[in-house]
Amino acid sequence: MSEHTFVVEKNCPICGKTTRVVKTKSRLMVIKTDEDFCNHYSDGFNPYFYNIWVCEHCGFAADEKHFLGSFMDKVKDAMQAKLTKNPIPFHFMEERHIPDAVASYKLAIYFAEEMGAPMARIAGMYLRMAWLFRSSGEKEKEEECMRKAVFNYERSRLKERYPMESLTDASVTFLIAAIYKRLGNEDMAASYLNVIINDKQVKYTDNQTYERARRMWQDIREDKKAAEEAEKKAKKAAAIK
Ligand SMILES: [Zn+2]
Repeated sequence: MSEHTFVVEKNCPICGKTTRVVKTKSRLMVIKTDEDFCNHYSDGFNPYFYNIWVCEHCGFAADEKHFLGSFMDKVKDAMQAKLTKNPIPFHFMEERHIPDAVASYKLAIYFAEEMGAPMARIAGMYLRMAWLFRSSGEKEKEEECMRKAVFNYERSRLKERYPMESLTDASVTFLIAAIYKRLGNEDMAASYLNVIINDKQVKYTDNQTYERARRMWQDIREDKKAAEEAEKKAKKAAAIK
């Protein structure tokens, strides 16, 4: 039993059996939000560990909204056939640790891809998986997931229609910039921020994203200036020697 979670029973949308899933209580306090919208909570509790529900019988996995949603018969039948033949073992645990949480996201990404989910949703799951590794300080794995997230968001931005997955054209563009910035690629970040800043509409339709983009663009410019100054100084010092 955890003070932040509780167990409920739900019907699996694929095999139809009743499975236990973990929900998080809503009275969590956000103490910090990163530029890519990763929240950090008080008490060291991390609700991202529990975003994905997994059926303890067949192994089907999805976030709450899609676990409870409806599926086209064709998609459901194909999935049912697959999982009846080869159910995926996943032990129910009320308390998840990094490996269990990562496994749940990997399963959910696998099913989302099999079922033809939008790339934006797959990108979002990779980003949350990156946040798991951020919380455990596993930087290489975090960056690998961020690269997969940005790859999917970039393709999605070109091919899919927004708004969707609670993102607009402007906010997905900002998110791509934010991920690139965290990956240390400030040039790519700046080029996406320019798209937002140069769009005359965004300032009026989504001022919050416009302001966020402007601030991040300024941060990047200041970083560049500082780096150039440091380089000049280093050159001067070398010349004096
Ligand atoms: Zn099931």
